[in-house]
Amino acid sequence: MLRTASWPRWGRTLLARGLGSRRGGSAPDQNGKVSEIKKKIQSVLPGGAWNPLYDTSYLPPEHSDVVIVGGGVIGLSVAYWLKRLEKPRGAIRVLVVERDHTYSRASTVLSVGGIRQQFSVPENIQLSLFSIEFLRNINEYLAVVDDPPLDIQFNPSGYLLLASEKGAALMESNVKVQRQEGAKVCLMSPEQLRNKFPWINTEGVALASYGMEHEGWFDPWCLLQGLRRKVQSMGVLFCHGEVTRFISSSNHMETRSGEEVTLKRIHEVHVKVDHSLEYQPVECAIVINAAGAWSGQIAQLAGIGKGPPGTLQGTKLPVEPRKRYVYVWHCPQGPGLETPFVIDPSGVYFRREGLGNNYLGGCSPTEEEEPDPGNLEVDHDFFQDKVWPSLAQRVPAFETLKARSSWAGYYDYNTFDQNGVVGPHPLVINMYFATGFSGHGLQQAPAVGRAVAEMVLQGHFQTIDLSPFLFSRFYLGEKVQEHNIV
Ligand SMILES: Cc1cc2nc3c(=O)[nH]c(=O)nc-3n(C[C@H](O)[C@H](O)[C@H](O)COP(=O)(O)OP(=O)(O)OC[C@H]3O[C@@H](n4cnc5c(N)ncnc54)[C@H](O)[C@@H]3O)c2cc1C
Repeated sequence: MLRTASWPRWGRTLLARGLGSRRGGSAPDQNGKVSEIKKKIQSVLPGGAWNPLYDTSYLPPEHSDVVIVGGGVIGLSVAYWLKRLEKPRGAIRVLVVERDHTYSRASTVLSVGGIRQQFSVPENIQLSLFSIEFLRNINEYLAVVDDPPLDIQFNPSGYLLLASEKGAALMESNVKVQRQEGAKVCLMSPEQLRNKFPWINTEGVALASYGMEHEGWFDPWCLLQGLRRKVQSMGVLFCHGEVTRFISSSNHMETRSGEEVTLKRIHEVHVKVDHSLEYQPVECAIVINAAGAWSGQIAQLAGIGKGPPGTLQGTKLPVEPRKRYVYVWHCPQGPGLETPFVIDPSGVYFRREGLGNNYLGGCSPTEEEEPDPGNLEVDHDFFQDKVWPSLAQRVPAFETLKARSSWAGYYDYNTFDQNGVVGPHPLVINMYFATGFSGHGLQQAPAVGRAVAEMVLQGHFQTIDLSPFLFSRFYLGEKVQEHNIV
């Protein structure tokens, strides 16, 4: 019998770590200096009302070659790779527009930080393989002169996926693909599983797959801050504001089959900056839609999906916010330091959190159980009814766990096939997508940023062919069939 878990009302304590002190240190200093200089100049000039140093630093520039909507891990990775791959150096001006510099609702900082190669689609495996190389050598990519080296707290404990009798054959064929792509994954029988992880109850488990290297978890906040620091040093511009409108021109054309199509090009992005009711126009050549869970709305602003149903013009970007809960618990008798990131056949997952017998985990709800995404409140009954029973069944020690805290975040959920959307829109020809990753976007960010930058700068994917992830699949009805979505 499970005892009722009582939830302390601590709110998102994990989220709170680092959100207060680590950001925004330099802006007040700068403002102070600027107003001091202003005062000095005003004291020596005639006509005190004249303000020669009107501070416009919070406004976006009037022109930028590329405007990236969204400054989460995906937007920043695109910015990084654009600057890294541009030729000659300094050739392009890149602006990142982010409406919430506290990232209070951004998926990146509310995620659980996992990276694995245990996917079934070769492109997803390749994306994660590159990302792990990036993360493990992060200071070769993101070091900034005179700044301390980055430590993203990578925990190389692997992922352990468990399959029931029904899922065992599929697991075997997935592992074959993973090995072909270069991932080191082994299959384990229930007996092998018990020997290696004696705390697991193998009832209902027919097979397990275990990632022997390049899998584990890291601190998403550190990666975000590392990217931000680096791209700033590379000359990327930032604006604290909300993209509210696109101004575009249209070209009407006819296809060979006589179908009328309208090609659009965005010329101007309107940014509503904080402390102002007005928008600031930014002329641009390319727009990157990296607005995460809100990228469907950004696509709509660009007119995407506003056409007759069944046509390319009427095809929407199927990305929307879906709320996911993460629960944290303490269990002194729980599994030890070698505990991997475990995914149960029920869909429940957990991993260690730190070194003090704390754990975190959760489970995606079914379509029918999808909670209202209007707020980020946590449903504790969901833990009680859906998560805990599976946890305690799989790890008997978790019967006595003590609930500690919880939070909720949004998946950038692709309702079509739960995989990323990468590359240009076929009709709004200068809007590029990097979104829809539905629970695996953090780990794919380094590789996706590179893919988008290749597409923008060279016109095609160079290192990993991500054609299956293009927007056109929504119109053509070609789903990316990834079996390992969590
Ligand atoms: C609970 C949970 C667990 C997860 N676990 C994992 C995991 O283990 N591994 C993994 O790989 N992934 C995981 N993910 C998924 C991962 O977090 C996301 O796929 C990834 O962070 C998406 O990054 P992003 O930059 O696109 O989105 P975000 O981080 O949400 O950034 C998008 C930004 O766009 C901004 N924005 C939106 N609209 C506008 C506008 N109009 N103007 C200006 N700015 C705008 C938002 O403010 C936001 O900051 C998890 C997600 C959740 C919620």
